[in-house]
Amino acid sequence: MTFDDGPDPVYTPQILDLLRRYHAKATFFVVGQRVMNHPEITRRIVAEGHEVGNHTFNHANLMRLRPEQIRHQIEKTSGLIHAATGKHSELFRPPGGYYNETIVHCVRKTGHLTVMWSWHQDTRDWSNPGTDKIVNKVLNNARGGDIVIMHDYGGNRSQTVTAVARILPELAKRGYRFVSVSQLVSIRGKLPVNRSK
Ligand SMILES: [Zn+2]
Repeated sequence: MTFDDGPDPVYTPQILDLLRRYHAKATFFVVGQRVMNHPEITRRIVAEGHEVGNHTFNHANLMRLRPEQIRHQIEKTSGLIHAATGKHSELFRPPGGYYNETIVHCVRKTGHLTVMWSWHQDTRDWSNPGTDKIVNKVLNNARGGDIVIMHDYGGNRSQTVTAVARILPELAKRGYRFVSVSQLVSIRGKLPVNRSK
């Protein structure tokens, strides 16, 4: 499970409570600006055993930026994550999933690995499609090794929270374990879907 665009003072804690209840670990791709505003939530994410990934400073469209601007977006956020948690982020997810050779190269220069998500697990929860749609998208397509994308920021995210509350127990019942992206990569012994080579 991955959650993008936060942290958010309302929804991120609710998601963290659910993850704790079901002993699930997740990866949060955070936006630097919001880490700056909510360092304590960022700290809680890490304290509870989850992973924090870098999602730029202000959710910029990197396709429009020059290489030095791209690196600035990543490095500024990386510094904020380290200041809040004492840990360095190792993963990066480009806003909107938009990337090209320049972006991936810049990401590597900052010491991060570009991580996308499983295309059949794009819940589009940001569009508030209804809790049932989000839940069914994940449950009907679930396979081992999947990376699910959801959002813990961006307007009313209560559908996302309710969906997580239904998805976690059902997939646990089916025998799935929920691990961070870095754990997933090490379990599979290869890189997740990306073009960073
Ligand atoms: Zn995003």
